[in-house]
Amino acid sequence: MPELPEVETVRASLARDVIGKKIKSVSITNGRIVRRHKSAKDFRSLVEGHTVKSIQRLGKNLIFGLDGGNHMVIHLGMSGQLLRASGPKDPKPKHTHVVFTFVQGDELRYVDPRTFGELYVSVPLPEGTPLEISKFARLAIGGDGLALRKAVPELAHLGLDPLEDQIGWDRFAAIVRSRTTPIKAVLTDQDIIAGIGNIYADECLFNAGIRYDRPADSLSTIEIRRLHRAISEILADAIKHNGTTLDDEQFVDPDGNPGSFQNFLQVYNREGQLCFQCRTPIERVMFRQRSTYFCPKCQN
Ligand SMILES: [Zn+2]
Repeated sequence: MPELPEVETVRASLARDVIGKKIKSVSITNGRIVRRHKSAKDFRSLVEGHTVKSIQRLGKNLIFGLDGGNHMVIHLGMSGQLLRASGPKDPKPKHTHVVFTFVQGDELRYVDPRTFGELYVSVPLPEGTPLEISKFARLAIGGDGLALRKAVPELAHLGLDPLEDQIGWDRFAAIVRSRTTPIKAVLTDQDIIAGIGNIYADECLFNAGIRYDRPADSLSTIEIRRLHRAISEILADAIKHNGTTLDDEQFVDPDGNPGSFQNFLQVYNREGQLCFQCRTPIERVMFRQRSTYFCPKCQN
């Protein structure tokens, strides 16, 4: 599943050439992708004729600011891809569900074999409507996260975005210590921390030397500081390498290029291989229906 670094890779790529373009038409061949709308026509009417003014990201969501003040949100789900095409003659990949055609003639296509992803248009709430913003996000001391949640009420519940919401380690510690669940469950709960999934949770916990199943409120101050630093460093590093592309997953950028952070993974997908730090074999266990990878010696 695309996580924060993969979604950020897509965002940065699209920001280079989609901002300023006007959407001429939208073709939808699978209504499930726009399921929040009463019809595909309703979605189309909110998008067609509008110019993309900005492309931002919050958690695993892409947010396209449209002229007129609405926002189009794209969540890639388990296997969604956004792919550029120079025009309708470019062969369409299987599972292409939505095609945006710009007035210039080029296209942006949404492809998703498993159709867990979705697209919707968010309309601003009437002035004065109360909006409940995540208590974790409200702890941020800077960044664009609060403004994004106010602009897109559907995302107001999202927890702290490690890049868009600036937070010091002390406030991060207060969040971690308020939870009694295993630390990996805290890291991957989008209503607490938005953007981290299975791969980066395992990598951050290895980097910080913490086992996935430690109760969050049992972490020491030093461990929480290490984890706070690991999250920002690993996510930044993964973005620098355009995300992670594994054999069984689909992630490619809008030009079809895979990422390269899979070459730098320390534990994820390395069951039975030796830990780069201590030469102990990496273990894999099932934790909440997902594979978890860790070093039994380095992480305690
Ligand atoms: Zn080790």
